[in-house]
This record gives sequence, structure tokens and C-alpha cells, in this order.
Amino acid sequence: MQVFTDNDAKPASVRDHKVAIIGYGSQGRAHALNLKDSGCDVIIGLREGSSTTAKAQAAGFTVMSVAEASKAAKLVAILTPDMSHEAIFDSEIAPNLEAGDALLFAHGFTVLYERVKPADDIDVIMVAPKGPGDLVRREYERGAGVPCLFAVHQDASGEARDKALGYAALIGGTVAGAIQTTFREETETDLFGEQAVLCGGATELVVAGYETLTEAGYAPEIAYYECLHELKLIVDLLYEGGLTKMHEFISETAIYGDLVSGPRVINDETRARMKDVLTDIQNGTFARNWVAENEAGKPKYNAMLEADMNQPIEETGKRLRAMMPWLQQKRKNAA
Ligand code: NDP
Ligand code: MG
Ligand code: MG
Repeated sequence: MQVFTDNDAKPASVRDHKVAIIGYGSQGRAHALNLKDSGCDVIIGLREGSSTTAKAQAAGFTVMSVAEASKAAKLVAILTPDMSHEAIFDSEIAPNLEAGDALLFAHGFTVLYERVKPADDIDVIMVAPKGPGDLVRREYERGAGVPCLFAVHQDASGEARDKALGYAALIGGTVAGAIQTTFREETETDLFGEQAVLCGGATELVVAGYETLTEAGYAPEIAYYECLHELKLIVDLLYEGGLTKMHEFISETAIYGDLVSGPRVINDETRARMKDVLTDIQNGTFARNWVAENEAGKPKYNAMLEADMNQPIEETGKRLRAMMPWLQQKRKNAA
């Protein structure tokens, strides 16, 4: 797989024209500040009464309506939540784009599932940093950068790829290295990862382990430490050096237990369920359900979230975390 770095990028294709960043949240703020510090002329598009207008203005940006910002810019980056894209694009952005303009996304969902259909004369590109906005900003400030994926869905100008890789470079993504992908690959793998492994899989694994211990009569506090709290140590090792580094740092007994018991828990049945999850992503079922849930005002989502946050492990966790004040340090997000 080819990794593209600063020397491969042609940032002038982006830097020579105005860039509109729509949304000033996690990604929007980081992209806007990094682009500005890379010499770009950046304007911010927000809706009337946005909670983030003051923050963008305080950082020195000119804030306009989404429509005005889209009209003024040659590259429009839509960095609001995915479920808001369709309405914003149809009413405010599409009518204000001109032939040769570029529309940029940080995730392929909206385009892959045809929530928006940009005109044929518009470049449609993606730059997806592999990290949250605060990291994208922090690494840039250090002179480094978070690796990015980039992709071209539609090349109307003949320069779509230069724009995508150029934008990735301007937010710091080619210091570390940018990898070319497609909207389909980025979206399907991103959704699968968060559902089967990172968010859905990991939390269910933790809760199932915690419940197995507490149902067997072990103290909830001890179960919490063993199944949730200590996960961080393992994840940090995996993050830093993969399975190899983890195995270097855990006991031999833990390695043996990992090798003989891991495959008993995550087995062929689990893999078959993972394939089901992937199939629903690939055939659009997941996207359709999520869009319909949003259109209905998220009743099921809210009920499931409420139940998820009111389970025993959360009560135990609250008590124990109060004993560990170093955990309370506020996570820096979009603020
Ligand atoms: P955020 O939720 O942080 O975006 C919030 C911003 O969008 C605020 O400025 C908010 O202002 C504005 N906004 C929200 N709804 C609307 C609306 N209906 N109309 C106009 N403005 C609106 O988004 P993220 O940064 O998390 O995500 C942006 C994109 O980046 C998504 O496509 C996401 O998939 C992708 N992405 C996100 C990553 C992350 O780490 N968060 C990582 C990689 C990609 P207001 O006060 O008006 O609501
Ligand atoms: Mg995701
Ligand atoms: Mg294992």
C-alpha cells in the first residue's frame, strides 16, 4: 500500500482559493485552525444561533451562514454530523456551488448511501483523519500530524485528487502519511470497526465479562476492575505495539489464558455474527435504519441509550472512579 507524504501533495490547488468549513465541532475546528495556520483563506459556515459561532469568532474566523460561505468558497468541507448533511446540502450548499467547486467530506456515509447527489460538474472528495479533532489539532501544533485517508468520488475538474491530497497535507495529514481509499471502503470499514469491535463489540465484551463474574457471586467492584478498568492497560499496549508488545508486557499465565480461552469466547459463531453486521452495512440496511430512526426523532435510539447508561456496571463504575481522582481530568474535545 502506497503512503503519500508532503512531497506528493500539491496544496496550492486548495490554498489558492477560499475554503469554507461548515460546522465548527470536533473536526471542523481542527481543520479550520490547521488550514489557517497553513496559509489558507478559511471562512466558517454555521446555522443561525449556532452554539459554536462565538468560539469560531474568538479564534479569529469570519462566520457566515452556510449558504453565504458555500457561495464564497471554491472548496466546501461539510463537517457537521452526518445525519445533518442531506438537509444542509439540499437547501444551503447545492444552490451555491459552481462548476469546478469541490465538496469535501470527512466520512463517506453521506455520499456512499446517496444522501446527497452533487451535480456532475462538482468535485467530490474525502479527507478522513484517523483520529478525533483535538488530536488532529494537537499533532499539527507539534509539527506532526494524524494520518489521513483520502478519496475521490467524482473528479469534474481533473484536479480532484490534488485537492484531496492537498487538503490532507494542509491539515497535517501527509506529515504522518496519507493513504488513498474509496468512499465505499472508508465507510464500510469505519462502520464495521465501530460496530463490531471498537464501540459495540468492546463494550458488550466488557459488560458480558462483568456480568459473568457478578452473577457467579464475585464483588462488583472487583469485576469492574478486572473487566473494564484494566482494559486500558491492554489497549495502550496494543495501540503502541500490537499483539507483540502486549505479549511482552503481560504474564506468561495471561498469555496462555489468552491463547486457549480467547478463541472460546470469540469463536466461529461470533465471526458469523460479525459477517451479518458487515452484510447489513454493505447492503445499506444499517444506513437505512439509522436514517429512518433519525427521521422518527430517535425514539429507539434514546430508549436503548438510556438503558445502556443505567445498567449495574455504570453504578459500580461511578463509585469506583470517585476513588481515582486522576481519572476525572477533563478530556479535551472540541472546546
Ligand atoms: P460535530 O458533532 O463535532 O459537529 C458539530 C458542529 O456542527 C457544530 O458547529 C454544530 O453547531 C454544527 N451543526 C450540527 N448540526 C448542524 C446542522 N443541522 N446545521 C448546521 N450546523 C450543524 O461533528 P464531528 O466533527 O464529530 O463530525 C463531522 C464529520 O467528520 C462527520 O462527517 C464525521 O463522520 C466525520 N469524522 C468525525 C470524527 C470525529 O472524531 N468526531 C473522525 C473522523 C471523521 P450547532 O451548535 O449549530 O449544532
Ligand atoms: Mg466512525
Ligand atoms: Mg488473544
